[in-house]
Amino acid sequence: MSSHSYNTNRKHSSALYKRAKEVMTGGVSRNTIFRRPHPFYVATAKGSYVTDIDANTRVDFANNMASLIHGHAHPAIIDAVNEQMHRGTAYTLGSEVEVAFGELLVERNHNFEKIRFVNSGTEAVMSMIKAARAYTGRPKIAKAEGAYHGTYDFAEISQIVKPDNWGDIDKPNSVPVTMGTPENVKSDVIIFPYNDTERTLKLLEANKKDLACVLIDPISHRVGMFPIEEDYLIAIYNWTRKNKVLLVFDEVVTYRVTYSGAQHLYPVKPDMTALGKIIGGGFPVGAIAGDAKVMSVFDPTRKIIKQPHSGTFSANPITMTAGKVAMELFDRKAVDDINNMADIAKKQIEEAIKEADVPVLITGAGSMFRMHFRYQAPRNYRETYQCPEERKLIVDFLDYLFLHEDIIMINTFACMLATTITQKEVDILTESLLKGFKIFKAEIHSFAK
Ligand code: PMP
Repeated sequence: MSSHSYNTNRKHSSALYKRAKEVMTGGVSRNTIFRRPHPFYVATAKGSYVTDIDANTRVDFANNMASLIHGHAHPAIIDAVNEQMHRGTAYTLGSEVEVAFGELLVERNHNFEKIRFVNSGTEAVMSMIKAARAYTGRPKIAKAEGAYHGTYDFAEISQIVKPDNWGDIDKPNSVPVTMGTPENVKSDVIIFPYNDTERTLKLLEANKKDLACVLIDPISHRVGMFPIEEDYLIAIYNWTRKNKVLLVFDEVVTYRVTYSGAQHLYPVKPDMTALGKIIGGGFPVGAIAGDAKVMSVFDPTRKIIKQPHSGTFSANPITMTAGKVAMELFDRKAVDDINNMADIAKKQIEEAIKEADVPVLITGAGSMFRMHFRYQAPRNYRETYQCPEERKLIVDFLDYLFLHEDIIMINTFACMLATTITQKEVDILTESLLKGFKIFKAEIHSFAK
């Protein structure tokens, strides 16, 4: 089914895209919002509902790629930000709210001795990698095949790989995402297969003299969105302790999973953690938090500043205000409630899968989950990988949900809940998925492995 087969109102979005194409490459500033034949443009959004400029209202399970933990336009966040705006939006001085927000996040996680704010998850991961190099004096990093960590050159390596370029599983290729990436970037990034202890430790061991850090997302979305296996993570952690290599976590997405992040599900202590998304309360944000000694590389009071670190809008009082209110609202009860709502959603969807008799598996943790056309849950990126034909089926399915059922999901076939999602929205999601499973049943069967 092409996306034109649905009678969605699209006149105004289609016209606006024509204008957008005149001024923005491909008509967009972030490829995420692009869809064929054109993106849709929002008129207004509130809670879990988004209305576009052609008056279509949809239920939002994407929440700006997992960043709006309280949905759209939360009144308490609006009030606090409004009030702050009258007192200025950015200064060449500090603000009390930045200190108070830092205190709040440090208090929530005993692995966070110090914190620094930046403007995006990409910037947080980049600053964290640079800090690891500055601290250890070594150039290389190791990361999991397929894991997404933002768009810093080094963090981007092997984020998108295919059977024809991923190489031998014993020594996966370092594949750049962006053409023109310098050779040394490739050679300074060691790629390991997720959840494969023997192969990963062998690869780390072979590079131990040059490694600054091992970068881990404990529930990596692109790898398949399942929690990392505990024995595997402990093996990596112990290896890093023995070899004085830093263990750094990317919790830009996974922080939402518990009150203190996914790291609290495991008996390990990362040296640093990159944060982003929900901690900005809907505004651009990132943060690096962790061990005080490691993070002293940023310290301007030191004789030698190993990593001079700044950013014009870092810790701006608007983001800090919105983030502080959002995280105060995301207390232990809110975390439990949203996770329970996700459990209810998963259970209902599993019933729909059974009723439709389709091979679909759900992975995830806390308030996030992802569906796979598989008989067996994947354990690594290669098992999660979707060939172009399967990818097309997912795009068709998501188009059906978006254009016919008025459901917004993440393009990997994932949902990231907000606290504004209630039983009513979960029922709408389940019923829409059930209809979709029935429509696409034959195709789903043909791709399930
Ligand atoms: N790390 C992970 C795990 C992410 O999912 C993302 C964004 N999707 C990033 C880093 C980068 O964050 P940002 O888009 O804010 O730069």
